Amino acid sequence: MLRLDGVTKAFGGGASRTVAMRDVSLDLVPGTLTAIMGPSGCGKSTLLTVAGGLQPPDEGSVTVDGTVLAEVSEPELYALRRRSVGFVFQDYNLVSILSVVENVSLKFELDGVSARSARRTAEEALAAVDMADLSDRFPGTLSGGQRQRVALARAFAGGGKLILADEPTGALDTANAESVLRVLRGLVDRGSTALVATHDRYVADCADRVLLMRDGVLYSDGARAA
Ligand code: ADP
Repeated sequence: MLRLDGVTKAFGGGASRTVAMRDVSLDLVPGTLTAIMGPSGCGKSTLLTVAGGLQPPDEGSVTVDGTVLAEVSEPELYALRRRSVGFVFQDYNLVSILSVVENVSLKFELDGVSARSARRTAEEALAAVDMADLSDRFPGTLSGGQRQRVALARAFAGGGKLILADEPTGALDTANAESVLRVLRGLVDRGSTALVATHDRYVADCADRVLLMRDGVLYSDGARAA
C-alpha cells in the first residue's frame, strides 16, 4: 500500500539546511496500523507529507497503491491522492460551515459523484466511526473526539485507503483519545492501512508495528527500518 525507498528530504540551504528525512525506507503491509514515535522535530510530519504526495522527496522514491509518485503527472497525482490517501491532522481540519455529512461527502462531490451517491458513501463511513447519529450536526457542536472521528470518516470514506495521521490524539483527553483509537483500529481491521505519527503511548499499544524516528532516521527494533 505504501513503500518508501531511500527517501531523503531536506529544507533550506547552506548553514540553515535541515535534513528532515535521511535515507528512509519503509514498506507497509496492507491492513495494518504502524505507529511512528520520536521527539518533536525528528521528521515524522515530513515523512507523512512525503508519503502522501504532498511534497516530493529530494532523493529516493515513494510508491502508493502500486504507483510511483514521481512517474505520474500532477493531475494523476491529485486523483491518486483523492482515491487512495486520507490525511488526519491533530486539529481535525473540518470545514466549520459544513455539516458532518457534508464534510465527508465534499470530496466525492468535487470529484463529480452525484450528491445522493456521495451522501450514501459519507453515511457509510460515518457509521463505521460511530457517528451516524450526528451526521447533520456542525463541527462546532462536537467534542474533540467526535470531530476527530469525522476526520477519520473523511479519510476512510470510499474504503481501502492509506490513512496518514499526524498526532491524531494530540489534542484529546484520555477518554476521547481512546474512542478515536478504537475507531482507527476498527477502520484498519476493515481493510485500511494506517501510518500514525504520535507521542502517545496508547497509539503505540494498539499498533501492529512501532517504528522510532530520530534526527530524520527511521528505526525498527533498534535497526534501520525497511
Ligand atoms: P516532527 O513532525 O517529528 O515534529 P517535522 O517533520 O515537522 O518533525 O520537522 C523535521 C525537521 O524539518 C525540523 O527541523 C523542522 O524544523 C524541519 N522542517 C519541516 N518542514 C519544514 C519546512 N517546510 N521548511 C523548513 N524546515 C522544515
